[in-house]
Amino acid sequence: MSTIAVLPGDGIGPEVTRVAVEILRRVRPQDTHGEYLVGGAAYERHGTPIPDETKAGVERSDAVLFGAVGGPQWDGDRVPRDLRPEAALLFLRTHFELFANIRPVRVFPGLEDASTLKREVVEGLDLVVVRELTGGVYFAKPKEYGERDGIPYALDTMLYRKPEIVRILRVGFEIARTRRKLLHSVDKQNALETSRLWRKTAMEVAADYPDVSLKHVLVDNAAMQLVRNPKQFDVIVTENMFGDILSDEAAMLGGSIGNCASASLGRGGEPGRRFGLYEPISGSAPDIAGQNLANPTAAILSAAMLCRQSLDDAAAAERIERAVEAAFASGARTRDLAAAGAAYLSTTAFGEAVAARL
Ligand code: NAD
Repeated sequence: MSTIAVLPGDGIGPEVTRVAVEILRRVRPQDTHGEYLVGGAAYERHGTPIPDETKAGVERSDAVLFGAVGGPQWDGDRVPRDLRPEAALLFLRTHFELFANIRPVRVFPGLEDASTLKREVVEGLDLVVVRELTGGVYFAKPKEYGERDGIPYALDTMLYRKPEIVRILRVGFEIARTRRKLLHSVDKQNALETSRLWRKTAMEVAADYPDVSLKHVLVDNAAMQLVRNPKQFDVIVTENMFGDILSDEAAMLGGSIGNCASASLGRGGEPGRRFGLYEPISGSAPDIAGQNLANPTAAILSAAMLCRQSLDDAAAAERIERAVEAAFASGARTRDLAAAGAAYLSTTAFGEAVAARL
C-alpha cells in the first residue's frame, strides 16, 4: 500500500487529475490518495501557493500526482513574485531536489495525422527528453532587474557545478541503456562556458557506459533536427533551459502537448521506489479550463510513470499505457487531437474510454 499526494492545482489541472486518479484507483485500489491545494487555488484560500498542510501531505507521500498551476488572474503585478502559483512548483522541485525531469514523447498508432509534421516523419516516434531541473539559468544568482545610470537592465546567471551535470547525465545514460543504447547530449559549447563543462563531463561519464553510444549536438541544431528527422533520437539529455524548450517542441511531434507526461525524480531511493512528482508537461490551459475539453492523456500517463518509478509497479504502468493505446486505436479523440470538423470526446468521456480498456 502506498500514499499518493494529489495536487490538482488550477485551470484544467483538477479536470485532468480527477480522471488520472480514477484510473489509478482502478489499477491500484490498495493505495490512499490525499488531495491538497496548490498554486492559485491555494493562494486564494490561504494566501500562499503552497500551504503547510500541502507540504506536510507531500512529505508523508511516496509520490506526488500534480495537475498544473497558474492563470491570468495571478499574472503580472497582481500577486507578489514569491507568492505566484508557479512558486509552488519551484518550491517542490528545490525542496525535494527533483533534479531529473523525464519527458517521454510518443506518436501513438492512429495519431500520426494529428501531428503537424508529415506522417512518415513521425510515424512510430518514441523518444525521451531528460532535462536537468534544479540548476542553470532559472535558479543561479545573481538575478537582477533594475536600472543603472538611467538605463533599465536585467541580468540572469547561468551556473552549473560538475556534480549536477554528472548526476543528470547518469540518468540519461541509465535510461538509454534500457532502450536503443543511444544518447544525444545537447549543449551550446561553442558559446557557453557551462556547455564546455557539460560536454567535457559527458565524455568522462561515457566511460562508465561503454554499451551506450554518445553523440553531442548543439542546441540550435537539435531544435532543427527534431522537426527534420526526429526518429534519429532515442534519449536526449540536456540542461534546464534547453530541455524546457526542446521538450515542448518534441511534445508537439505527437500531435498535442496534452499527450505528454513527465516525471521529476530526486536523489536516493531504490530503483522503482524513488520519490517523484508526476505531471503533464503543459500548463493550466486557461483558454479551455472548466469546459471538460482538456485532453487527460498526459495526466493518465503521468500516473503510469508514477506506478513504474515510485511504486515499483511496472505491471500497473503497462496496464494503463496499453489502455491509452487501445483507446486511441479505437478512434477515441479529445478536441485537440480530432481532425477539423470531426467528433471528439470530452475529458471525462475520454477517461471512461481508457478506463473501459484497462
Ligand atoms: P499551456 O500549456 O497551459 O497551454 C498552451 C496551449 O495548449 C493552450 O492553447 C492550451 O489550451 C493547450 N493545452 C494545454 N494542455 C492541454 C490539454 N491537456 N488538452 C488540450 N489542450 C491543451 O500554456 P500557457 O497558456 O502558456 O500557460 C497557461 C498557464 O499555465 C500560465 O499561467 C503558465 O504560467 C502556467 N504553466 C504552468 C505549468 C505547470 O504547472 N507545470 C507549466 C507551464 C505553464
